Amino acid sequence: MTENKRSRFNIARRIVVKVGSSSIAYPTGKLNLFQIESLVRQLSNLHNQGRDVLLVTSGAIGTGAGRLGLSGRPRTIPAKQAAAAVGQGILMHIYEKFFSEYGVTAGQVLLTREDFSDRRRFLNARNTLHALLQFGVIPVINENDTVAVDEIKLGENDTLSALVAGLVDAELLVLLSDIQGLCTADPPRDPGACLIQEVPEITPEIESLAGGAGSKLGSGGMATKISAARIAAHSGVSTVLACADEKDIILKVISGEQVGTVFWPCGNKLENRKQWIAYSAAVCGKIRVDEGAAAAMLKHGKSLLPSGITGVEGQFEIGSTVSIVGPDNQEIARGITSYSSAEIDQIKGVQTREISRILGHKDYDEIVHRNNMALNL
Ligand code: GLU
Repeated sequence: MTENKRSRFNIARRIVVKVGSSSIAYPTGKLNLFQIESLVRQLSNLHNQGRDVLLVTSGAIGTGAGRLGLSGRPRTIPAKQAAAAVGQGILMHIYEKFFSEYGVTAGQVLLTREDFSDRRRFLNARNTLHALLQFGVIPVINENDTVAVDEIKLGENDTLSALVAGLVDAELLVLLSDIQGLCTADPPRDPGACLIQEVPEITPEIESLAGGAGSKLGSGGMATKISAARIAAHSGVSTVLACADEKDIILKVISGEQVGTVFWPCGNKLENRKQWIAYSAAVCGKIRVDEGAAAAMLKHGKSLLPSGITGVEGQFEIGSTVSIVGPDNQEIARGITSYSSAEIDQIKGVQTREISRILGHKDYDEIVHRNNMALNL
């Protein structure tokens, strides 16, 4: 049964592969040429089969640091950005060299968080990626580390790759790193740890497997992978987490072999615009709602009316994306608001018919219309 389900990867038309720095570079900051060549050969082969392939690659900062003779990863922002400027060029040079040996054209795409959070830039990025795919090019994508400072960075490429997979409507996201997949415990510490082959749904138990702070897997690694798999799942994309070192790993995944961990997509895929609201748009504030409103939204997909609102946080204008939280402070939805924070503050808790009396105008009954709302994030 499991085998059958994975066999659908065989017919995946569009695939995003993400590779981490430790898989393509040595701790010396020099590139692992064998690994990169094997990666490029597999991707070129999938491309030759007529599939659309996108590569999200890390390694710019580490490689640049190596070339600049720095010991370890640079700490200051300017040093990281300088390292990335040097390293991204080296990285692209090597990818370009190997891809051209296989007769495949690669195109560098460097993205920042704002390319996702600004709707216009988001649509531009989507058009660019689609145009590259139409030209038969393999986009080689990284975060634009030379211009993005820490505060405004996505910071890691697991999330970036999941956003890209949603952006281009991929069927499959393959996250390659130095681990076999998601395990029941941290393998080096617990010899009884075993690989979880399938994750039908990302539950709190699955999230807890990311490990506590300080564990090898917990230091961002597994947590960001699970969070990326969640974004992908809500975007209708399957994610396979697998080990970059394993021979022909991508081809094995595509042929449906039982390798790594697969996270299956949710039944209720968010439509494209709602994916953007849920995962890409910048959140400008918070609206608190009571239990009744939370249930109406979550169980019946209703719009948010002023009567269910108990509070508002942050300052935002009409058209901003806001987070909607229930009485227990848990985020239940994100949506685009039809009223500003100052207006919501005045009309919170009142009936819709009172909006115009209080504000002197009423353009909408709903504060956040259900068409502008993404639930079950
Ligand atoms: N963009 C960073 C780089 O190329 C890496 C981010 C990550 O490790 O996920 O160095």
